[in-house]
Order: sequence, then structure tokens, then C-alpha cells
Amino acid sequence: MNVVWLRNDLRTLDNPALYHACQAGPTLVVAIVTPGQWREHDDAAAKVGLWLSRLAVVAKELLSLNIPFKLLHLDRYCDAPNALVDLCSEHDAATLWYNHEYPLNEQRRDQAVNELCQSKSIAVNAYHGDVVMAPGSVLTQSNDIYKVFTPFSRAWRKQLTENDLKVLPVPRKQKSMAVYSDEVPSTLSGWDLSFREDLWPVETSVIHKRLDTFVAKRAAAYQEHRDYPAINGTSILSPYLAIGALSVRQCLYALRQKHEDALETTWATELIWREFYRHLIAAFPHLSRSENFKPTYRAIRWESDDSVFKAWCQGQTGYPIVDAAMKQLVSTGWMHNRLRMVTASFLTKLLMVDWRKGEAFFMQHLVDGDYASNNGGWQWAASTGADAVPYFRIFNPYNQSQKFDASGQFIRKFLPELKGLTDKDIHQPSVSQCEACSYPKPIVDYKFARERAKDRFDAAMKK
Ligand code: FAD
Repeated sequence: MNVVWLRNDLRTLDNPALYHACQAGPTLVVAIVTPGQWREHDDAAAKVGLWLSRLAVVAKELLSLNIPFKLLHLDRYCDAPNALVDLCSEHDAATLWYNHEYPLNEQRRDQAVNELCQSKSIAVNAYHGDVVMAPGSVLTQSNDIYKVFTPFSRAWRKQLTENDLKVLPVPRKQKSMAVYSDEVPSTLSGWDLSFREDLWPVETSVIHKRLDTFVAKRAAAYQEHRDYPAINGTSILSPYLAIGALSVRQCLYALRQKHEDALETTWATELIWREFYRHLIAAFPHLSRSENFKPTYRAIRWESDDSVFKAWCQGQTGYPIVDAAMKQLVSTGWMHNRLRMVTASFLTKLLMVDWRKGEAFFMQHLVDGDYASNNGGWQWAASTGADAVPYFRIFNPYNQSQKFDASGQFIRKFLPELKGLTDKDIHQPSVSQCEACSYPKPIVDYKFARERAKDRFDAAMKK
């Protein structure tokens, strides 16, 4: 018997561990619920809700393939090795199969599982199902990890072969055996698992249709539309990629069916950003310990006043584009990429709040929360990360608003109190307009905040 351990790879199509295990012989699939660990990792309840709902769908698909499904209820990762070895022993399984995960706690968990399995003569087969190129396989000429995105993406594209893009089929139906399927809970004590199912349905056919519709109808204009939050210009597939309901390979395969230059497109570049952050997180364990990628910036003096952080979280900063974005995050579990950059830059540069606080708040609310991409995005915005923008490049929220939400359509959707302002005024309401709309005045003066950020980063560089 083979045991496949599902984690953030909730799919039957293009799932290397599942496919190869089933090719090898009779297979049983297990997944593990670890609420204590999820809390420790700041996983959003909405993301856990999405994960469980999707898992229920996958369990049904497995049943139709005559593959039994077992759900273990543990609290934390440290409980996994014994539970998995017990399961393997109970089912006389000689091999455990899984797809790699790259943040430090996941790597440590897997190491502990591997060691215990080895001591019990259980073989372990692991695959890189969450990426096209395995971490450590795209290296500079001197065999180093790329720390800057553009040369990484160039090398990634150059190294890519047809084989890397092959999508594995759904495993063949197994010979009928005593098939059973544990029920996947729709509730967990202490968690409100609701998420926007209208925005992210979990049925496989619907997810595949979303991908196909994006590549057929919106991918061609992606480059032109992707920065405008009021336009449905991006794929909005990130929650599916985060839990592995879709693989990157599937995305690129679908893109290639419709676009000859698929691999050269800006959308493919975004998927390569995802790979880049995975390569970094696998290579630099200090990123998983919430440390700055660049040690130079350890000396940055952050503000400790919690009230400004709270105002940011609640969408009460008096900067309409920032507040509308934060309302989008809290009410839907998702935020447009341009606005993730604007809000993160605002918190870390103009409010001088430590990026780790923003990183945690995002994780607590994002339905697509993903450690590598979130940490990478935050450190990019705070200029502490790999490939960060130069520290003196501070987003001006007013300019960003005028440029990317010129008519104020996005702001009006999430801040209805500002609906009545003109397209010109809505980006930067006057004090009297704020009062009339019961909207907060700016929490900080832009020019002052910009100078303060420059001074603080200068001082940190000199230390
Ligand atoms: P599209 O534009 O359609 O892109 C397709 C896919 O490529 C995305 O679904 C995503 O998987 C990947 N991708 C796109 N942009 C990036 C990027 N800059 N970095 C890494 N992967 C990318 N993405 C997450 O999936 N989870 C997070 O927790 C997360 N946190 C972020 C925090 C900050 C501060 C920033 C600046 C970015 C963060 N991102 C995160 C990256 C990006 O904002 C989202 O992936 C994107 O907005 C998702 O929307 P989409 O699916 O429509 O993306």
C-alpha cells in the first residue's frame, strides 16, 4: 500500500505525489487538520474554510477513483510524524508520498517525518509539485541563488524545457477495494470558516473554467489592465494557487493553448515571481524567522504607536485609496496587487510601522495567504527584501490613486461615504469634506511622513 499525504496540493490533476503513488500500486490518501499550527502561522479563518471546502471536493473525487481518504485531527505539525507512521503501519504501507512545501516549519516537519519513517523502514518519495522549477535548480553562473528577480526570470525561462510543462493526468481508477472516505468537517471549534464562496467556488470544473475564461478572454489585455483595481483585469486565481487547487503548470499549459508567446507574457512573469519567492524561502531559512532579508536594515527605527497601526487595519487613515483597499481585504479576503503594494508601502514608509505587523495582518485576512509570496511582497515594499525597490522610492498614495483609480470607482465601492465627492476630490478630500462625509482626516501629513521615512532609512544605512 502507498500513502499519499495531501497538504497545499488539493487537486487530482497534475499532482505528482498522487499520480506516481497510484502508478506504483494501491493508494490511500491522508490529510491532516492542524488548527493550533494554523493559528501560530496567522492563517486566516477564510483560508482554512477554503482549504476544508476544497478538501471535501477532492475527497469525493478520490472516492470516484476508488482511492480511500483518511482525515487526521491533530493540533500541530509536531504531532504529524507519529500519526503518519502509525497510519502507514496500520495499512501495511511501505511508502509515503508527498509534494514539497518550502517555509522552514514545513521543512522541519517533513524532516522529522522522513527520519521517523526511515527508522521504521518506510520509504518517502517527495516531489516539487508546487513549482515548475525546483528550488535550488535555477542558479547563477557561480552556482548561487539569484537574489534579484529579473536575472532569475531570464534564467528560469532559458532553462525551461517542454518536459517541465507537462501536466500529469488524474490517476487511473484503482481496482475496487474496501473504499471509505472520512468526512471533512465544515466547522472547527473557535473558527469562523466562512469565506466568499461566490468569489471562489471549490468545484474542480468551475475552477478550471475560471482559468480557461481568464486565458481566453482577459489574458491578452492583462498587461494593460492589471494595475487598475476597478477593472476585472487580473486572474483572481491566487486562492486556488495558494491551496494547490491549481498548479502553476496547469496555468501555463492553459495559457499556451491560447497564446503563442505565452511564456513571454506579463502574466507568466507574475507566475515566475511566485516561483522566485519559493526559491528564496527554501534557500534562506531566516526569511521564515521573520528576519529582514537584508541585515543592513535591522537598525531601522520603527514607530511603536499602536493607534496608527489600528487605523491602517480598520481603513481609517484618511487616505481614501489605502482605506478602500483595507476594506476590500477585510470584507472579501483578497486585495488587488497594486493596492497590496500601496497599502504595504503606506504602512512601512509613511507610518513607519514594522513590516512584520502588516505581514501578519495580511495573513490573518487573506484567503490566498501564502507565506513565501506574502513575506516577499512585504519585504519588497518595506525595502528590506531581495529585489526591493530602492528605499527612497516611496509610493505617493494620492498619485497612485489618481493614476490607477482615476474616476474613483474603486474608492466609491468600498467607501460609500465618499460617493458624493467629485472624481477629482475623492483622492484627497479637504478637511471640510472629510468632516461633511464623516470620514477621518489624514492620519499623517504626506510630506512630513516622506521625509521622516527617508531620514530613518538613511540613519539605518549608516549604522
Ligand atoms: P494575477 O495577476 O492574475 O497573477 C497570477 C498569479 O501569479 C497569482 O495568482 C499569484 O499566484 C502569482 N503572483 C502574481 N503576482 C505575484 C507577486 N507579486 N508575488 C508572488 N506571486 C505573484 N500573493 C499570494 O498569492 N499570497 C499572498 O499572501 C500575497 N501577499 C502579498 C503581499 C504583498 C504586500 C504584496 C505586494 C503582494 C502579495 N502577493 C501575494 C502577490 C500578489 O499581490 C497576488 O498574488 C495577486 O494580487 C493575486 O491576484 P491574482 O490571482 O489576480 O494575480
